[in-house]
Amino acid sequence: MSIKVTSVTKTYKSQKALNDVSFSADKGQIIGFLGPNGAGKSTMMKILTGFIKPNAGKVLVDDIDVLQTPLKAQQNIGYLPEHNPLYEDMYVREYLQFQASIFKVDKNEVDTCIEKVGLGVEAHKKINQLSKGYQQRVGLAAAILHNPSVLILDEPTTGLDPNQLVEIRALIKALGKEKTVLFSTHIMQEVEAVCDRVIIIKKGEILIDKELKALQHKNQQIINVTFDDVIDETQLHKLENGILCVNVKENTWELTFTSHKDMRGKVFDFAKDSNIRILELTSKSQNLESLFREITK
Ligand code: ADP
Repeated sequence: MSIKVTSVTKTYKSQKALNDVSFSADKGQIIGFLGPNGAGKSTMMKILTGFIKPNAGKVLVDDIDVLQTPLKAQQNIGYLPEHNPLYEDMYVREYLQFQASIFKVDKNEVDTCIEKVGLGVEAHKKINQLSKGYQQRVGLAAAILHNPSVLILDEPTTGLDPNQLVEIRALIKALGKEKTVLFSTHIMQEVEAVCDRVIIIKKGEILIDKELKALQHKNQQIINVTFDDVIDETQLHKLENGILCVNVKENTWELTFTSHKDMRGKVFDFAKDSNIRILELTSKSQNLESLFREITK
């Protein structure tokens, strides 16, 4: 197990930021850590990386106890904190060499990491001369310098433009092939594009911890259909047990099916049997975004 968190509780004075949180992660997984602001994501990440201590609970990274032996555990952890703190007056290569000396890593590793995160053309510049996307790459390079098996990234894509977003996501995905990655974000498409698994946390408690595929399969199917005539809601209920029917406007209905099977054919057959015609029909799955809103509201 790369990460094993057991019953972690953290209070800041009277405020409970984490309440009995447990989860674990296998090697080579990319986990999206989601939750509204103030949910406890950063607190969990700081505890995982040994920067702050919980009031109770146990944290293992690669079977090393982070609370008992933080320095040893940190040799296996790469951490990109929120707001990516960098020494902006330093040159990229100089900064990474400085980081390498702290981690007692061979200086030759610096160039390998510069290449890995695609910083080659910018490596001679001062950090404050770089765009936000390239500064994130510097943060990522610093996080992977010592070749950790676990990467903890706190909102690594916040503030990036759409092109930079795509590039950093691709980088995270590539890193996830050889490392366990836990990263927080507010962008649901990002989770769908990058993650194998999703953990949703709210008010310090985990609400969902599932494989992304399982969440997508569990989704309901929503069909928007416009008939050419008035139809009675009780008739529509015959389509499926537990179907939810909302009259959007005039003869247009939103039908929510609880099964994830494709129900379009059934709706067509229903219209034919009811002697009514379909003018328009669209089908959509409930996406992660609506699921997130539903369970965190
Ligand atoms: P998230 O990263 O999900 O936005 P945080 O872990 O930053 O959430 O915060 C969780 C809760 O703990 C919030 O209510 C926040 O105000 C509180 N909190 C975080 N850090 C501190 C601190 N150093 N002192 C007091 N309260 C804090």
